[in-house]
Amino acid sequence: MQQQVHDLIDRQLRDWDTARENYAALGRVRLRDSEIAGRSVVVMQYNPERKRSSGASVDAASLMARPCFLCKEHQPVEQETIEWEGRYKIQVNPYPIFPDHLTISALEHTPQSIAGRRIDDMLNLARLLDDFVLFYNGPRCGASAPDHMHFQAGNKGFMPLCDEVMDESLWTPEQLLLTSKEGFLGFTDQLGRNLFFIKASERVVASLLFARLQLAMIVASGNADDEPMMNVLCWWEQGNYCIVVFPRRKHRPECYGEGDGQMLVSPASVDMGGVWAIPVEKDFEDITGDQVQGIYDELCMDGAGMVKIIETLIQLD
Ligand SMILES: [Zn+2]
Repeated sequence: MQQQVHDLIDRQLRDWDTARENYAALGRVRLRDSEIAGRSVVVMQYNPERKRSSGASVDAASLMARPCFLCKEHQPVEQETIEWEGRYKIQVNPYPIFPDHLTISALEHTPQSIAGRRIDDMLNLARLLDDFVLFYNGPRCGASAPDHMHFQAGNKGFMPLCDEVMDESLWTPEQLLLTSKEGFLGFTDQLGRNLFFIKASERVVASLLFARLQLAMIVASGNADDEPMMNVLCWWEQGNYCIVVFPRRKHRPECYGEGDGQMLVSPASVDMGGVWAIPVEKDFEDITGDQVQGIYDELCMDGAGMVKIIETLIQLD
């Protein structure tokens, strides 16, 4: 299937003007990088086309009033689809951050949620598309279409964090919460944002560890009605399924906006992965590593929240 996907990308960049122009523009974007926590790289990308995503209104009234851009009837005729398992469509994202950027959305208009078998879908897709990292934005964590279930995928090797979590020196016994011979679930605060990491050779083990973490997050939040706020990265590498979960406590930072002293940044999975696509040139030029760190601190789960999830996880075990 991966070859089919690469062929789809080639075809769309040849035949679809919007995609061709936006991917060509991406090839010319300005980048600069910064380091946080003494060991984690954050890449800033000046990307004006992402304004439609960072600036999107995602309140219920705005969503009701707009045509859903993931539903077939509102998509451009040029946008092609590869169907997977009769439930998802794989498409080229016409407003890219990655050199190859896919949107993988449910065929039907159904709310964004990672409950049930969605994590298995994500793991299966990561195995099939092993040139890519899959990612999922919770409905209140940066998804610009929280009313229509979708994953995205981008080139492996692009988000610095995916390489950083593979550093075995992070995963000392004190950082591991659940282990078996097929894999582990651990946590770290060493990369500038609190995260959980699952690495397992068997898909079913990765899926089970994720389900247990999700349950602990629900119980710890004291709210069983809404999905716990999170961003998720998922990929397959060297015989292992890898999942990074960033528990969140806030959708957008206080500085969000276009006024004086504000920045149009609405961090989601890719920003959590260490690539900040910034649509406003001044913000791109001005933002410092300390400000990035401050926004991670504001949006990600804090230490006390992590302790609560970890204690719940251990009690449920
Ligand atoms: Zn839709």
